[in-house]
Amino acid sequence: MSSVKCYAVNGRGRFFIVVGSSGDHITTGHFCTCADFNFRKKECVHMKVLREAIELKLYDTVSVEPEELSQVFKYAVREIIFEQPR
Ligand SMILES: [Zn+2]
Repeated sequence: MSSVKCYAVNGRGRFFIVVGSSGDHITTGHFCTCADFNFRKKECVHMKVLREAIELKLYDTVSVEPEELSQVFKYAVREIIFEQPR
């Protein structure tokens, strides 16, 4: 089961992180940081989950200040770096 977090950056727009079985991924309609997308360059499960979540408004919104982004990305990038192939 995946869940979607929307990070609303105060005054600077938003981005989405899809939390899946293989960790957290920064996902857009055209891009995902997961290994599957980077290998196949085709729509991955996170992009599908994100599209459905946006359509149904099924995501949690977290408000962050622009200066907090380095913490968010440190967390997200750490998850990606330590993701192990299954
Ligand atoms: Zn993905």
